Amino acid sequence: MLKPLAGYKRQEYEKFHSRIYWRRERQSRPRQEILFLDRDGVLNVDSGYVGSIRQVELLPGVINAIQFCRRSGIFVALVTNQSGIGRKYYSWADFELVCHHIEQSISKDAPMFEAIAACAQVPNPDLVEEFEWRKPGPGMIQAICDRLELRADRCWLVGDRLSDVEAAARAGLAGAVQISDPRSKRASPASTGFSHLYADEAADAIALAASSILRQRDLRDRKVYE
Ligand SMILES: [Mg+2]
Repeated sequence: MLKPLAGYKRQEYEKFHSRIYWRRERQSRPRQEILFLDRDGVLNVDSGYVGSIRQVELLPGVINAIQFCRRSGIFVALVTNQSGIGRKYYSWADFELVCHHIEQSISKDAPMFEAIAACAQVPNPDLVEEFEWRKPGPGMIQAICDRLELRADRCWLVGDRLSDVEAAARAGLAGAVQISDPRSKRASPASTGFSHLYADEAADAIALAASSILRQRDLRDRKVYE
């Protein structure tokens, strides 16, 4: 079997207990916009500390929703808090295997993720300033924007938690779609110009964020040709 995430380069950010993986070879350059996705609760059922492929259960419709993004020229990146690694419930190698499995489940042939960022830090309320990378910190999103030379204000995010939306707002993204879940709090718009939308299902949330990116792209293109 091919090594999990073999098509990615990897960089370790020890200080932030984080890693970024990005594609070695890009088929084409992103158009300065990307859809950031949280992983657990967005692509797969969040059963708590998903560290093995046996626990992976993809949510309905997400395969089609991501394939739609890719066909529309929207690149997708994962940004995921993985304190289960910091807690030693599972390893970075287990994490890589789960991401590889999810990517293969979406498409066997074409690469689906432009980048993957994960933070293994265990939450500690006494160390608030240390949490620039763990969401709601913006660090993972900003690092991917820097690495791929993306414009944050053209990017969107889909997440199931308030911390996902807060991270998106703090990173200066155009907006975020939160999957409605009675267990998670709803945020009020966190900064001027930031769009915070809701959808009931993960697939709808991804489609809504993708259509928002396409609408903004269309408006920009029209301005250019007017
Ligand atoms: Mg989540």
